[in-house]
Order: sequence, then C-alpha cells, then structure tokens
Amino acid sequence: MDCIFCKIIDGDIPSTKVYEDENVFAFNDINPQAPVHCLVVPKKHIVSVDETSECDMEYIAAIFRAIPKIASALGLKNGYRVITNVGEDGCQSVKHMHFHILGGKKLPESMG
Ligand code: AMP
Ligand code: ZN
Repeated sequence: MDCIFCKIIDGDIPSTKVYEDENVFAFNDINPQAPVHCLVVPKKHIVSVDETSECDMEYIAAIFRAIPKIASALGLKNGYRVITNVGEDGCQSVKHMHFHILGGKKLPESMG
C-alpha cells in the first residue's frame, strides 16, 4: 500500500520515534508547528476518524492510552493540544489516521 505512515511504521521511511507499543507508533512531525509536535498513529491502516469500524476500537483506545504517556515523556506538564484532521475540509493531507500532539508553549486560542 502506498501510504507514507505505513512505511514509517514499517521502518521503510525514517522517522524520529517517540513511542511504540503493540498497536501504536508515534514520531516527530517533519514540519513542527510548535516546540513539541508529534504524530500518534495506529499500526493498522485506518483512513480517518470518519472511517473506523468496530474492530478498530482497540486501536483508538490504545492511542488514547498512549497520548498521556507520550505527553508526559515529552515533558508537557502544563498541557497540550490533540488534533486530528478529517478529510477535505479538515485539511487531512495523509490518509492514515493520526493525532497531532502539540505543546511546549502556550498555544493560540484559535482553532481556525
Ligand atoms: P495532516 O495535515 O493532519 O494530514 O498532517 C500530516 C502531517 O504529517 C503534517 O503535519 C506533516 O508535516 C506530517 N508529515 C508528512 N510527512 C512526514 C514524514 N515523512 N515524517 C514526519 N511527519 C510527516
Ligand atoms: Zn497507512
């Protein structure tokens, strides 16, 4: 499958890994929008939040178990933002579901 995040998970494209478990992989965003900016992805190719099925729920749960662990490991003691873009209007550029973790500074209030 021609998916850049599947290739990152498989190690075929290099990334800076920040976390990995059985179901989840996380790595630094190549174009950071904040001092800390990483992406948390399921190890299964799920397109987006809009295209999940019941059997994907263990991955969703694993992602939300991993996020606070990653945030803590990255020193985000004072809070952070979690974003997932969906589809065309959401400006989702990579069609493998991913959750941005942004932090390391006071983020702007605007969500667009
Ligand atoms: P989105 O616009 O929500 O689909 O986010 C895709 C994100 O993936 C962007 O923030 C990109 O900077 C990031 N990205 C694209 N290619 C890579 C890569 N090879 N390694 C790390 N991050 C990437
Ligand atoms: Zn994929």
